[in-house]
Amino acid sequence: MSETTEQPDSTDASGETFGFQTEAKQLMQLMIHSLYSNREIFVRELISNASDAIDKLRFESIADAKLLEDDSELRIEITFDAEGKKVSIRDNGIGMSRDEVIKNLGTIARSGTAEFVKSLTGDQAKDSQLIGQFGVGFYSGFIVADTMEVVTRRAGETAGVRWTSAGEDQFTVDDVANAPRGTQVTLHLKDDALEFAEDFRMRSIVRKYSDHISVPVMMFSTPEAPIAEEGEEQQPAPEAELEAVNQAKALWTRGRTDISDDEYQEFYKHLSHDYEDSLSWSHNRVEGKLEYTSLLYLPKRAPFDMWNREQPRGLKLYVQRVFIMDEAESFLPIYLRFVKGIVDSNDLPLNVSREILQQDDRVDSIRNALTKRVLKMLDDMARKEPENFQTFWNEFGEVLKEGAGEDFANREAISKLLRFASTETVNDGSDAPEKTMTLEGYIERMNEGQEKIYYVTADSYAAAAGSPHLEALKKEGIEVLLMFDRVDEWLMGSLTEFDGKQFQDVVRGDIDLPDSDKDDVDDDAHKDLAERIKTALDDRVENVKASRRLTDSPGCLVLSADDMGAQMRRIMEASGQAVPASRPIFEFNAEHPLVMRLDSEADEDRFKDLALILLDQATLADGNALGDPGAYSTRLNALLLELLGDAS
Ligand code: ADP
Repeated sequence: MSETTEQPDSTDASGETFGFQTEAKQLMQLMIHSLYSNREIFVRELISNASDAIDKLRFESIADAKLLEDDSELRIEITFDAEGKKVSIRDNGIGMSRDEVIKNLGTIARSGTAEFVKSLTGDQAKDSQLIGQFGVGFYSGFIVADTMEVVTRRAGETAGVRWTSAGEDQFTVDDVANAPRGTQVTLHLKDDALEFAEDFRMRSIVRKYSDHISVPVMMFSTPEAPIAEEGEEQQPAPEAELEAVNQAKALWTRGRTDISDDEYQEFYKHLSHDYEDSLSWSHNRVEGKLEYTSLLYLPKRAPFDMWNREQPRGLKLYVQRVFIMDEAESFLPIYLRFVKGIVDSNDLPLNVSREILQQDDRVDSIRNALTKRVLKMLDDMARKEPENFQTFWNEFGEVLKEGAGEDFANREAISKLLRFASTETVNDGSDAPEKTMTLEGYIERMNEGQEKIYYVTADSYAAAAGSPHLEALKKEGIEVLLMFDRVDEWLMGSLTEFDGKQFQDVVRGDIDLPDSDKDDVDDDAHKDLAERIKTALDDRVENVKASRRLTDSPGCLVLSADDMGAQMRRIMEASGQAVPASRPIFEFNAEHPLVMRLDSEADEDRFKDLALILLDQATLADGNALGDPGAYSTRLNALLLELLGDAS
């Protein structure tokens, strides 16, 4: 029913056609295909954009009241025309200039988008999963529309702009006269999407997607003609009027008990443009010296650019219900950058800037409180909803680990949330098992007399689980945490103990195992062999000694307590930094047949070859590359040939 807002006139020959940025086009196609089964979400996306535009106008008008012109009743209007097969969503918010239209509705500015698009496989089912990492937006209109038309005028400007596109390769931009302030998006519906031009259907969708936003969303009423009394003439129905269909009260200002889970989830999607529900949220009002409300959400899925620490992110900041800025990064530490939400302060001034936020004591206290709140939310989830927590950990665990090194005050709370694989993890045969072991659990399972928490870091699960350094520990039934994330060595550089137990890297220093029969390895008895090997290996090792940690392998490499580990070394080398030189200690297993054979080798050349092979094998077992792989093959092949020659 009902008319759409009057269409402004095109002026002169200002029309210009532009091609969409390649990435924008690809994402648009992906969105149209992925979200086909949930077509109505375009309504949420367009209402969200309209509400953001009104928030921005409200904010800019604090400094410049003229921007409100004579139209200060800020609102969104939704109208449709069933016969004309179109729906319009109009706001009298900030609007866009010609340049902004071309940039905002033709390109995707987020850094890393090109790489993200390259990672698409072309397999629609798989790619659909990825769209959630990006966030849905304006282009979702093309799920239901053949053509989209945007008429917009930026507050304070006189000229308006029309943007038109069929969502394929290009869009057209022309100037329009007498455009009202703000933005009107008109969707020319596809024939199979005409349900969106029906009053009942549209009204229920609009209510669902707008109840939690603070701006009134208006639709025309559908008045009915009064029932005529007998003998009276039938009166016509009264004129349709615009009426608000939502409560128009910002969700976070309402009491927790008044808000349903669905409303919380809808608000999350409005904030984040995520198409999936959040995992969990925490809504709190704080009164006292500082007064503020926060509503924080944990997403289910990491965004594609989570590893870009430069990418702006943070909470939406409001001051006394007035929107101030997106991505206010001062309210949470960077290691909690996955949290989405809002903070609404009663104390900060309306003209607060990013610079002021960075130095404000009140902001510091809010940040400390919100950090604790998020860690508590995670702790509650770990205890009460372990499956959700595991989902969280799989997506964001590596980011949270950054906190152990960066946030000394909360290190213990963060340590309790850490999850690892260990030698006790049941592996279902997949490449790497889920990381499910807690430090608290490790301590409960510790052997009697065990004083330390043992761990190994490596580049992959296979390298960690297969490390020769675990052999004696395994034999003693001592659990070892297996760490193979990129940040693990760095993490363990900042964690020294948990619950009074020291961490011990199994690759470093001496390992004293309680009650181990390896304790009686007699260094003196192997002194000569150690000396002989050391001479053969020359400057490649710091020292050589009989091992207490090996049972099956002939040798392994050990670092001294303060040496830099291999993972860290590679990260630093890759970033072009100077890495201090260091040489490992070579430990040999005196009971291994190869080592016994070595001991009895009279030919010094052959002794040297065999010793070098054992050293290179130990390097390989740690997942490291050989300095001279060719020399290793040559030596090994010579020995193999000798062996085969012997056998024939
Ligand atoms: P997102 O909202 O996630 O940034 P969209 O694709 O939905 O992505 O929108 C792109 C940009 O276009 C927005 O960031 C905003 O600057 C602009 N925009 C979209 N809709 C409107 C609107 N109704 N009023 C003003 N600007 C808008």
